[in-house]
Amino acid sequence: MNPVEWLRRWAALDGAAPALLLGDRVIETRASLLGQMARLAGGLQGLGVGPGAPLAVVMPNRPDYLVALGAAWMLGAPVVPVNTKLHGREVAYILDHAEAVVALVAEPEAIARHTSGCCRLVEVGGAEHRSLLAADPVAAIAPLDRDSLAWLFYTSGTTGRPKGVMISAGNLLAMTLAYLADVDQPGEEAAHLYAAPMSHGAGLYALVHLLRGGRHLLPESGGFEPAEILHLGRTVGRVSLFAAPTMVRRLVDAVVAGAGDGQGLDTIIYGGGPMYLADIEAAVAAIGPRFVQIYGQGECPMTITALSRRLIADRSHPRWRQRLVSVGQAQAPVTLRIADPEGRSLGTGDAGEILVRGAPVMLGYWRDPAATARTLRDGWLWTGDVGTIDEEGFLTLIDRSKDVIISGGSNIYPREVEEVLLQHPAVAEVAVVGHPDPEWGEVTVAILVPRPGHTVSVAELDALCLDHIARFKRPKHYHVVASLPKNHYGKVLKTDLRRLLTDPEPSTS
Ligand code: AMP
Repeated sequence: MNPVEWLRRWAALDGAAPALLLGDRVIETRASLLGQMARLAGGLQGLGVGPGAPLAVVMPNRPDYLVALGAAWMLGAPVVPVNTKLHGREVAYILDHAEAVVALVAEPEAIARHTSGCCRLVEVGGAEHRSLLAADPVAAIAPLDRDSLAWLFYTSGTTGRPKGVMISAGNLLAMTLAYLADVDQPGEEAAHLYAAPMSHGAGLYALVHLLRGGRHLLPESGGFEPAEILHLGRTVGRVSLFAAPTMVRRLVDAVVAGAGDGQGLDTIIYGGGPMYLADIEAAVAAIGPRFVQIYGQGECPMTITALSRRLIADRSHPRWRQRLVSVGQAQAPVTLRIADPEGRSLGTGDAGEILVRGAPVMLGYWRDPAATARTLRDGWLWTGDVGTIDEEGFLTLIDRSKDVIISGGSNIYPREVEEVLLQHPAVAEVAVVGHPDPEWGEVTVAILVPRPGHTVSVAELDALCLDHIARFKRPKHYHVVASLPKNHYGKVLKTDLRRLLTDPEPSTS
């Protein structure tokens, strides 16, 4: 298989159909997009990119991203997608570690001084990039076999060095088919909007739309601007997008503020971090049955569980709320189980680490056999997430195992405390972390962002917790901040928060 082969088939049927849009302007048809990929592939081949010789892509979301992905895969080469928000030194580490041959880079100066020089840095939009795009096109599309390395994705690495997750062409095919089975069934008329960074799972959703002959839509802002997304829904129509929960929240706030009604946004897939019950309820109330949830991780991209549009919207079901706080059921190609630290399966409703096996699970970590052996054991991927499975097979994530707070010997799952605090009208955002304590080992600390114009009352929050959760779980300290530290993908950086708490002068207590 090769995703570019899919595009070629659609181009053979109707080459003039729109394929790539920048804002509401069509900038490439199927035939011209294929032509661009083939020319760039010709240029990159001349620089040594090919099977086992990766192309790194270090650029924000823009049309060139899709062309670069297609060009690499046409050559049978792996892509190394790199988060543009990383420091030049971190990018250089990834380029060297991945043994990338060429990197298409938006800002080469920041990286050049840190690399070993083995990887050729080509500035996006610069003279060399333009000449590569004008090269003689490759004549044929290379096959990507099931176990060929296609996507070498570096984990965010909050502890230690980032690890290179090896995703094969077979993993990507399983992910793509599972999307059509369990997430959504877009057709030729669909437009997939890249609002979340393409260097992450959002970029991989390109495969679904290459397979289905749909349109690829890049917002002109290159990022997530709620007003722009609502506008593109109206003007382009049949839009689907992947959004982190924080993005969904911003979109819904924009709708509530009168910026639009979600018209033309067919499907909003959310995941990548916890979606709180209050937020998804507000989202469905504001723009209706457009949401599908997925749970995945770099090591099993976008494809562990899904919670369908129908189940999210079915308010009449007696277990609707329970389902809404879950991440849904296993996607078609995977099997799930919950295990204790020794790998023994736990029963229905018991909390333990989530283990996954199946066709989308990574090959391993690049040049890191020790980490691979820790994470892939007896054919199971140890996700590092803690959860429970109910009798209907719905998985509820409780937390990352490393975020669990152990206080006086009892486990406290921050998410449970966060869900309670978010019920308070003055709380806009919250993160709960553990803080070392001489008496209890760790105590619970809540870091809050108040809603504009509100002040939070610690007494009220404490009363709310006493009403909903066991005494020992309630925060011993509260800190009020203007915003929570988040990574480029909108995830709250709990490691940074824990570090911040060791600062002797926190803002409030
Ligand atoms: P990454 O590998 O950076 O994509 O991060 C994957 C992690 O994000 C997972 O292991 C989960 O901890 C979290 N995550 C992904 N999807 C969801 C979801 N739907 N709900 C809650 N957490 C999620």
